[in-house]
Amino acid sequence: MSRPLVLHPDRLFSSEPRQRELARALYATVKDLAIVSPHGHTDPRWFAENEPFSNASALFITPDHYVFRMLYSQGVRLEDLAIPRRDGGEVEGDARKIWRTFATNYHLFRGTPTRVWLDHAFHEVFGIRERLTAESADRVFDNINACLARPEFHPRALFERFNIEVIATTESPLDPLAHHTKIRASGWKGRVVTAYRPDPTVDPEFDGFAANVARLAEVSGEDTSTWRGYLAAHRHRRAFFKSMGATSTDHGHPTAQTSDLDSGDCEVLFAKALERSATPAEAEAFRGQMLTEMARMSMDDGLVMQIHPGSMRNYNPQVYARFGRDKGADIPTRTDYVHALKPLLDRFGNERDLTVILFTLDETTYSRELAPLAGHYPILKLGPPWWFYDSPEGMQRFREQVTETAGFYNTVGFNDDTRAFLSIPARHDVARRMDCRFLAQLVAEHKIDEDEAFELAPELAYKLAKRVYKL
Ligand SMILES: [Zn+2]
Repeated sequence: MSRPLVLHPDRLFSSEPRQRELARALYATVKDLAIVSPHGHTDPRWFAENEPFSNASALFITPDHYVFRMLYSQGVRLEDLAIPRRDGGEVEGDARKIWRTFATNYHLFRGTPTRVWLDHAFHEVFGIRERLTAESADRVFDNINACLARPEFHPRALFERFNIEVIATTESPLDPLAHHTKIRASGWKGRVVTAYRPDPTVDPEFDGFAANVARLAEVSGEDTSTWRGYLAAHRHRRAFFKSMGATSTDHGHPTAQTSDLDSGDCEVLFAKALERSATPAEAEAFRGQMLTEMARMSMDDGLVMQIHPGSMRNYNPQVYARFGRDKGADIPTRTDYVHALKPLLDRFGNERDLTVILFTLDETTYSRELAPLAGHYPILKLGPPWWFYDSPEGMQRFREQVTETAGFYNTVGFNDDTRAFLSIPARHDVARRMDCRFLAQLVAEHKIDEDEAFELAPELAYKLAKRVYKL
């Protein structure tokens, strides 16, 4: 017996009638605006090769850590979801069976944004009108797979249908950007740009750091055995990335620590990092120095910096040993910004031509640290609620806690920050709804006037991201 899948037109709006009515009116003006996706992790190969996605499980389950971490937390083995094992050990190969496991456990996602995104994709992208349950699993699976085989569901067609004006991927400096080159050469009009994510080459504790720095020499033609040559190599790669459309860099560090050391100290630290004799404190200082160096380079080449700190990566050693990185076992930690950013801010904080966007996985920093910093320093802006807080409630908390001190114009619109391509329209829709809800509340409480809310809605949905990220 199938149960209907319904997306209510007023979903996420206030239940208070006046606010709901205004939220609806505001939302009507932004819901069809093009999507600007300035930060994310979609695979450029999809758009370069435009091959059909293989099946519903490979699309929705296996690549999405939001999905499999929840299933894992309730006792489902990652092998049963086809998560590849590092030792090449056997994992489930039957996509239909994987889908059934997922469908049988779909109730676990009640109340989570993952549920909102998935239902939105099922309903809007695939036209599914029944809720996913153990009973409907096979029908939904067949329906999605039948769609995926059709040309209008190939990656480029979906990109166009989603009304994506521009999307940024993230690549390491070692990446030759072959897919981006192919996209550009293909004559397709979809705009896919890269972003410079140097973590594997600036973090002494990253797997294979020394080998990565050696490869950085090969791809840049600079001598990365010296501190000077190493910096030159980054400048070289940044210029290449910029030529491939990059407008930003991204830094996924364990903390927001920055350093401003003299070049003698930098040389010593760099040498220790290369020979793997750096202590954890020295590795931290080196990463911090590289944030300051990247800010200096951004002063020259104009790339917007994003700092994504505060995730303790690979927290579960058994999962890491068996399956590797990005398997849903990254856990937020307390993050300090005020002390950590001071060296960088003392050096560059008052510049008017530099933009540094701060993200957090520590919501206690919103009103205590981030909003006061961004409400003062010209270089600082606040990124949208990230990762665990990319949710209706997370967005509400963000606006409530930062707006009074940083306003709206020290924020940068929405980032979907996703690998899950099909969730992109859903995520932007949630952000647009929640921002309209918040604006409607401010109007209802006479904190801003209605005309101001109508001016702000498209800023938050579209214009700020385009402007701040220089897209
Ligand atoms: Zn990201």
